[in-house]
Amino acid sequence: MCFGVRDAIALALEHADVGPLTILGDLVHNPTVLSALEAKGIAVAQDVADVRTPTLMVTAHGTSERNLARTRALGLTVVEATCPLVHVAHRAVAALARDGYHVVIIGQRNHVEVRGLTGDLDRFDVVLEDDDVLALDEHPRLGVAAQTTQPVEKVRRLVSLIRRRFPQSEVRFIDTVCKPTKQRQSAAIEMASQADVVIVVGGRTSNNTHELVKTCARYCTRVHHVQTDADVRPEWFDGAEVVGLTAGTSTPDDVIDRVEARIRLRADATVDKFASARASLRR
Ligand code: SF4
Repeated sequence: MCFGVRDAIALALEHADVGPLTILGDLVHNPTVLSALEAKGIAVAQDVADVRTPTLMVTAHGTSERNLARTRALGLTVVEATCPLVHVAHRAVAALARDGYHVVIIGQRNHVEVRGLTGDLDRFDVVLEDDDVLALDEHPRLGVAAQTTQPVEKVRRLVSLIRRRFPQSEVRFIDTVCKPTKQRQSAAIEMASQADVVIVVGGRTSNNTHELVKTCARYCTRVHHVQTDADVRPEWFDGAEVVGLTAGTSTPDDVIDRVEARIRLRADATVDKFASARASLRR
């Protein structure tokens, strides 16, 4: 689990001990963590209109200044669990807009983090695929930043496509992909290149878990995404000598450990956990 998610969960638990708390949206995209928070009496609301506690927590994905002001105007106390690296991305986007660039975000248009990154802008574009770049209008100055959990290779490829598509424009790119995402992606590539089967653990709606699945699938033909050990199927490991195991940034260690234990039940499978790569992701 990356430090941003760990700190956000710790902050939620700390505030829940002091008084009633509602988290706006999913603090992390992981059902196991969300059930643990629910067990502590922490409420989750998808809309600020549904908040019934005096204190509301903004998730690690962050939100816009406009949204924060709207929420405070309702009389709610706001606790921000925004990851510091999401704040870095916010500052980069603000700087691009301030310097007169038309902002282009590489990411998923409806992802909560991207809505937060763009929420203070009047004009912007969001691109995720080549076709989105081809549909962009020309601007004399284009300022590009990325959702923190996008694969950096893909981000660089799209930036270079933007530069080629608009040779007359000044294109400024600020790399806002976070370090834990970069480390995880490069460790996953190394692992998937050596594994017969790869298991990726993480929430179904977790963007960085999906990106890990896609990255691993480029280096290994047998990649499976599981949320918990209950999803693991014994037949996936038929004939496999090396099984690779990795996880999205919001996956708790105990969930990963249970998946590993389930895989190890297969006597003919060797699990290479890349423990050193995981250790390096801990702050
Ligand atoms: S994935 Fe990166 S930006 Fe998101 S919470 Fe973790 S460290 Fe922060």
